[in-house]
Amino acid sequence: MSFFLRYLAAVGLVLLAAWLLSNLVSEAAALAWLGAAFGLHALLGAIHLARLRHWVLLPRNRELPAGFGPWREPFDRLGRFLREETESQTEARSELSRIRSAVDQLPDGLIVLDRFEHVVWANAAAEDLHGIFGSRRPIHHFIRQPEFTEMMSGEAVSGSIRAQLAQRPGRTFEIRLHPSNNGQKLLITRDITEQAKLDAMRSDFVANVSHEIRTPVTVIGGFAETMLSLDLEEHERRQYLESILRHSTTLQTLVNDLLTLSSLEAGVNRPDDEDIDLHAMLGSLLDEAHALSAGRHSISLSLEGPRQVRGIRPELESAIRNLMTNAIRYTPDAGTITIHWRVRADQGWLSVRDSGIGIAAEHLPRLGERFYRVERGRSRSSGGTGLGLAIARRIMLRHQGTLEIESAPGRGSTFSLRLPAARLIEETRSAKATQ
Ligand code: ADP
Repeated sequence: MSFFLRYLAAVGLVLLAAWLLSNLVSEAAALAWLGAAFGLHALLGAIHLARLRHWVLLPRNRELPAGFGPWREPFDRLGRFLREETESQTEARSELSRIRSAVDQLPDGLIVLDRFEHVVWANAAAEDLHGIFGSRRPIHHFIRQPEFTEMMSGEAVSGSIRAQLAQRPGRTFEIRLHPSNNGQKLLITRDITEQAKLDAMRSDFVANVSHEIRTPVTVIGGFAETMLSLDLEEHERRQYLESILRHSTTLQTLVNDLLTLSSLEAGVNRPDDEDIDLHAMLGSLLDEAHALSAGRHSISLSLEGPRQVRGIRPELESAIRNLMTNAIRYTPDAGTITIHWRVRADQGWLSVRDSGIGIAAEHLPRLGERFYRVERGRSRSSGGTGLGLAIARRIMLRHQGTLEIESAPGRGSTFSLRLPAARLIEETRSAKATQ
């Protein structure tokens, strides 16, 4: 039965009792009964109203007092409702604080702005990156870059800019604007230093390649045009054709080096390792070096390390050839070049030492970057592409080794390929005996 019907039934019973009293006893008794019943009802009402008022004025987390008589059920229901409400609020609060602490762990800065571009909320990273403090301050107090002001004042609801932040010198950030609910805006600040470096490297690379290609292509075009438009003597014609050939060879070497480097960097289709007779390989590379030097240098080979290593034959050969070619290229006539294969601290070291021009310390960390040369002119005139060491470094990486450089200007250089112990093949006694 509903509360209302039960209430009416109770009032009906009181009235029925009053009617019975007036008929069976006296009207005065009925009136006294009615007075007592409704007085009690009013008293109960007043007590509960007073308790309710008292409870409302106290802190919300106090339990609602229990009710009596007709007040019991509404008080119970209200109490239950309030308990459920408090529980779900506590749950929501702890959920919110979990989300907040997760968002605070993010390395990206998050800022919520109201429609007037005042900061409503910022996570820890954003406070740190932009020096945000206090609330409801305009974002322009904290981010003052003109590009940012321009982005915010534009028509577009989303966009992004790159910026340097005073709080993090030397790093590059992207500040991205997103629309959010109710006219609010979301700003995300992300550290993109590595990506920016890659972008710069990529565009440097394209600029370098274009630059390297331009000279030979221009020369080839120029000579061909001259040959077409002028009547040349045989010796002039020969001279021009030789120049064309020289520059086309440079182009060919450059394209080959670029292809080698890109396939090494892509890292796909890695050929299988094989057992390589390094002593034999070094012997034939020594012959090549003698041919290239044409008697201008004294070149010697010392073999102390194991005869065989495991690796990719054409790659190791190309890395060693590059070091030998460089040693010849950058060592003046009558200089000495020593090729030394030995084991040091369990690792294989193949060193090419020259008594050449040497390299100043400030260049050493950058050697092995694509197109990095100490002297452009000298490298180009001797047929260098500026990619040889980059290729050698990549090759060593594929063999879990490194390219090590020691050098001083005027005192020569030592370029070494370090191979890990696992790539050295131990010589057995019988193999040694048959040598
Ligand atoms: P390149 O084709 O120009 O020789 P590399 O990548 O092989 O390109 O070498 C990069 C640069 O390192 C060269 O341009 C040169 O300046 C320097 N370099 C390399 N080997 C030597 C060496 N043995 N002695 C002095 N400088 C060297």
